[in-house]
Amino acid sequence: MEKKSFQEYQLSEELERAINSLGYEEPTQVQKSVIPQALKNNDLIVRSQTGSGKTAAYGIPILERIDWLENKPQALILTPTRELAVQVRDELTNIGRFKRIKAIALYGRQPISIQKNELKQKNHVVVGTPGRVMDHIERGTLVLTQLRYLVIDEADEMLNMGFLSQVEAILKQLPNERVTMLFSATLPEEIKQLAQQFMNAPMEIETEDTGVTVDKITHIQYNTCEEEKFDLFKAVVTIENPDSCIVFCRTKDRVDILCSRLRDLGYPCNKIHGGMEQDDRLKTMKDLRRGAFRYLVTTDVAARGIDIEGISLVINYDVPMKKEGYVHRTGRTGRAGLEGKAITFVTEKEERYIREITEYIGVEILSATPPIEEEIEQKKPAFVKKLADAPILKSSKDEQLNKQIMKLHFNGGKKKKLRATNFVGVISNIPGVTAEDIGIITISDTLTYVDILNNKGPLVLKAMKTTPICGKQLKVSEARLR
Ligand code: ADP
Ligand code: MG
Repeated sequence: MEKKSFQEYQLSEELERAINSLGYEEPTQVQKSVIPQALKNNDLIVRSQTGSGKTAAYGIPILERIDWLENKPQALILTPTRELAVQVRDELTNIGRFKRIKAIALYGRQPISIQKNELKQKNHVVVGTPGRVMDHIERGTLVLTQLRYLVIDEADEMLNMGFLSQVEAILKQLPNERVTMLFSATLPEEIKQLAQQFMNAPMEIETEDTGVTVDKITHIQYNTCEEEKFDLFKAVVTIENPDSCIVFCRTKDRVDILCSRLRDLGYPCNKIHGGMEQDDRLKTMKDLRRGAFRYLVTTDVAARGIDIEGISLVINYDVPMKKEGYVHRTGRTGRAGLEGKAITFVTEKEERYIREITEYIGVEILSATPPIEEEIEQKKPAFVKKLADAPILKSSKDEQLNKQIMKLHFNGGKKKKLRATNFVGVISNIPGVTAEDIGIITISDTLTYVDILNNKGPLVLKAMKTTPICGKQLKVSEARLR
């Protein structure tokens, strides 16, 4: 039985309000199939195309079932990359904003001490990459006794050789009484078989024949050779003139080289690959989301799960080595109902890969001839203008949600013996404010952040400037939301 609107799931008012504020008017296909089953605590193996809303498909039912009072993590989401862990944490935080859900991201190359401190506080949901999650389990900083939900996102990648032993090690540490859910746009049969071993009579949900997004993405290929790729690239983007474009290369070195050549030509361009500092990687992601530059050159590290609004063009500068990789890379465009174009450069050596890919996706990749000189000349002025124009910064989709929220910074925390209940007590005593208006509270040794919901921020900010907590007048100011 299919449901048509989110209301029919009888979600808590807090979740419904957040879903509305995010602009999700009705559940997507996969959400219609998954949400009722997940609310019934069934184990699920789910395949649906890229950009179809899988995160909220597991996020909504899990957040609905979270017991707010429990301090230890109740849900663990495993992802293959750090960027994806951060993105999922943010999406779940948005959906859980009014339920005051605390979600944390654990990933490598961020100081372990920061994460240890975060783990000492209340956390409902942990999103992480396997290596760092295991590290915290071994150190005893991540306690999983209360865990009730495990999600393996991008499951085929996570159960592949590279990650399998780490995921198996984590599985051994989890309570048996739990719900396990697997999600991906590509799920080979052998992965589903493997998953049976640690799942409980899982139900399979598939929303399309293949994971490839056929109706929204135009697939095109250019036959070329290595020496001509760069000129072809310039010609193609001159014609396409994208606002936001992701370019995939085979290796880090090739990313470095292409990115610097494009920079030399004045392209607003940046890169992400595994050889970079994590802070730089995350900053680049943020900038791309804001639309601060137009061309991201990257390896497969950005191929899976990354959801960025308005990527209109994906270019495979090199053909992906695995057929599934093609689905994930090209799936960075054509998301959430928008149209997209995927262009692949194919050298003679790569032709057999492209044949395999075409067979796998079951969709024809149209062969195009390189743009002719006249066309390039004709389109050049518009292209050059866009290169030089300052990009128009995008507002994020959670802006509407966040409008109603103000984060307050107080200059006192644990060292002053302050606890969350102290803040709740005092703030909810302000005339016109109730405990319902208080969101997530984060206390560290010397400072505290309190989210104030429902547009009550300015009121609370003003009042707290002259209202002591536990006899202490703290300095209070507005902080950045994220
Ligand atoms: P997937 O994991 O299937 O690739 P995501 O979970 O990343 O897809 O979601 C793709 C985009 O769709 C995201 O920007 C997400 O916020 C948006 N989205 C999710 N559910 C809905 C919905 N019901 N209505 C509109 N947009 C949605
Ligand atoms: Mg996803």
